Amino acid sequence: EMFGQLTTGLESAWNKLRGVDRLTKENIAEPMRDIRRALLEADVSVPVARSFIESVTEKAIGTDVIRGVQPEQQLVKVVNDELVQLMGGEVSDLVFAKTGPTVILLAGLQGVGKTTVCAKLAFYLKKMGKSCMLVAADVYRPAAIDQLTILGKKVGVPVYSEGTEAKPSEIAKNGLKEAKSKKTDVVIVDTAGRLQVDKAMMNELKEVKKAVKPTEILLVVDAMTGQEAAALVGAFNVEIGITGAILTKLDGDSRGGAALSIKEVSGKPIKFIGRGERVEDLEPFYPDRMAQRILGMGDVLSFVEQAQQVMNQEDAEELQKKIMSAKFNFNDFLKQTKAIAQMGSFSRIIGMIPGMNKVTPAQIREAEKNVKFMESMINVMTAESRATIKINILQLP
Ligand code: GDP
Repeated sequence: EMFGQLTTGLESAWNKLRGVDRLTKENIAEPMRDIRRALLEADVSVPVARSFIESVTEKAIGTDVIRGVQPEQQLVKVVNDELVQLMGGEVSDLVFAKTGPTVILLAGLQGVGKTTVCAKLAFYLKKMGKSCMLVAADVYRPAAIDQLTILGKKVGVPVYSEGTEAKPSEIAKNGLKEAKSKKTDVVIVDTAGRLQVDKAMMNELKEVKKAVKPTEILLVVDAMTGQEAAALVGAFNVEIGITGAILTKLDGDSRGGAALSIKEVSGKPIKFIGRGERVEDLEPFYPDRMAQRILGMGDVLSFVEQAQQVMNQEDAEELQKKIMSAKFNFNDFLKQTKAIAQMGSFSRIIGMIPGMNKVTPAQIREAEKNVKFMESMINVMTAESRATIKINILQLP
């Protein structure tokens, strides 16, 4: 499981808060140390982990207690929101040129999955209805052009190449010209990777950049390299000026440090993630979904969120009193079903309650039908009966 270790590390933090009635500076100190340790073990850099812990601590202490929500669940929510912020908040969409072909320049060290990303991106864009062309400007590794040609065939997009003798900036320029004449929507330029960052590689990228003026310059980095990947994105950005990163190999046992640190360290967003070797295995990077995967608690998060939004504290308390004292009338019942309707469908709500995932869709439909039926029965009652006839919920079958 992706980030399994990080998820486990965070779990021990929640467990330490069992039974406390609110979050305080004192009782979150130890859980915070667990979270810090889990982040460092995931290969998040020390300064990133430190500022993360500081802002979570500050926000956790300041949160209002919500009735029915455990303090540890509230901390999960605070950590989630901060994780989302750390990873850039919003999804960062690919930018397209207003006129002419959009040029996407791909850079990256050898072996990170850059050539594979060319094909994956082309596949992704084709599905969006965009026509694509790949340009083979990696002239140093002879197999690179063949590999790109094979991948291009596989996804059904043309590959422009001039062999290994031409200059990469010339190849890119000519490729773009060809794409213009064919009215291709997007040109993806594959550039040479090196074993490590060096001047020749940076200079070549600068030349290609000057020659084709890309809309997007994306650095492909390998998630397995953790905080190194984040530092690399920063370095490339300073040197070339990039628009974002593509993080590959998130399907392996990467520890998550790269996903968590890239935005914070480099100022540039992750735009896509690769989760496998197939051309289908590329998806836009959604900070919120990633945070949920890390926490492994999608249900708790939605529960806290919706409780915050819908459940007005006084209403909830009054209702509880009425139910306990069997003074629950039909108007209260209607109010309740409305509040539930605001939280979404029955199936969604049931999905959010831990342990309720065994309820079958048929049972949910049946329950929904029953509620609709009861609502219509109540709607034909007189106002007086609605207010005076009491339902003793504790005695319902
Ligand atoms: P390049 O040198 O950067 O062009 O790297 P390649 O595209 O040739 O990929 C290097 C190796 O990594 C190949 O064996 C790919 O199949 C593999 N690879 C690329 N992306 C992913 C990914 O997201 N997940 C996994 N598991 N393997 C990948």
